[in-house]
Amino acid sequence: MKEIILCKLGEIVLKGLNRRSFEQKLLSNLRHALYRLGSYRVWCSQSTVYIEGADESADMDLAFEAAKKVFGIIKLSRAAACEKDPDAIVALAKEYLRGELESVRSFKVESKRSDKRFPMTSIELSQYVGGELAEAFPHLRAEMHEPELVVHLEVRDVAAYVHASPVDGAGGMPVGSNGIAVTLLSGGIDSPVSSYMIARRGVRLVPLHFFSFPYTSEAAKEKVVELAQLLTPWCGRMSLLIAPFTHIQEEIRDKCPEEYFTLIMRRFMMRIAARVAEDCGGRAIVTGENLGQVASQTMEAMASTQAVLSLPVLQPLIGMDKEEIVRLARRIGTFETSILPYEDCCTVFTPRHPRTHPKLEEVERAESALDIEGLVSEAFAGIERIEVGQ
Ligand code: ATP
Ligand code: MG
Repeated sequence: MKEIILCKLGEIVLKGLNRRSFEQKLLSNLRHALYRLGSYRVWCSQSTVYIEGADESADMDLAFEAAKKVFGIIKLSRAAACEKDPDAIVALAKEYLRGELESVRSFKVESKRSDKRFPMTSIELSQYVGGELAEAFPHLRAEMHEPELVVHLEVRDVAAYVHASPVDGAGGMPVGSNGIAVTLLSGGIDSPVSSYMIARRGVRLVPLHFFSFPYTSEAAKEKVVELAQLLTPWCGRMSLLIAPFTHIQEEIRDKCPEEYFTLIMRRFMMRIAARVAEDCGGRAIVTGENLGQVASQTMEAMASTQAVLSLPVLQPLIGMDKEEIVRLARRIGTFETSILPYEDCCTVFTPRHPRTHPKLEEVERAESALDIEGLVSEAFAGIERIEVGQ
């Protein structure tokens, strides 16, 4: 019996003329997600993506888990295929779904028929197969409203498919279908989640981390590499950029009033991110900021940070509660790494009394002793690049 994975496309189907390019992106992302796991055939037909093992190297369990993380798919099911004949469908359903059919008390059959030459209508097919299954499994009761098991039958172009228990896919849009953005990735809980959320909207990410060696350790950097790596099943392969930040922070410490340290530092992060965006075709900067969470995340503080940019800053966590962010971090698998206790550059030189409602002119005055352009260029030139998810 040949097993196959059926993936239902999400918002892609609304995209009219762009639809083909969306489908192509999704197929190429899926192929990339699968290529280390064995050899598979992946194709799209009638708004459904099919994944089939191409030889014995294919592992359908691994492929199913990987496909659940590919954005652009809303539902997936494992299915078995047979020829387009009602009795072959009955025989396959009995065999393939035996375990499920034996373990529930109520069921119904739902059919879809995109091959209109098939001799029965969908309703006739459901009734026929339902009747045969009820006879073969006499403990089962047909239940139209809330059955424990729905047996799905699909008569498509090349074959008929039987499946049950579809699971939710990752949703969203295929990575790469909505442009590129630079995501500021710290070692904390929030920024891996904000990265995930923007990638889910179809954006290819370039993660950028600011590193303050020796104030932050090599282990802190490894942690960020690990976080980027953990994001790749969702975001695809990425080039993680590590920008040296020590000189900037020391200059700020030596030449600026203490209460503005964090704000000035964040303005530097944005300027460097803008340079990276220019370099890689990025059209926005993503951060894990969350209104009111820390002193630099008041509306005035964010205004003064964003004043150095002409690109939009995407802050998908802005209105979420910490608890919701943590739940999502756990679900996507980054939480345990995020809570490892290494310093982030933001916690070095933290002012004792940070300004929480700064005026832009004050911040500009506070940083006026610095060679801004020189420091930004120096950090940009010192960027290290680490490939993840290859
Ligand atoms: P996180 O949990 O993501 O570290 P946070 O609540 O600690 O966030 P801040 O430290 O104020 O908040 O940082 C806000 C955002 O700025 C982060 O979500 C991240 O996008 C970015 N950021 C902070 N530190 C760094 C860093 N060292 N490198 C890159 N981006 C950073
Ligand atoms: Mg942080």
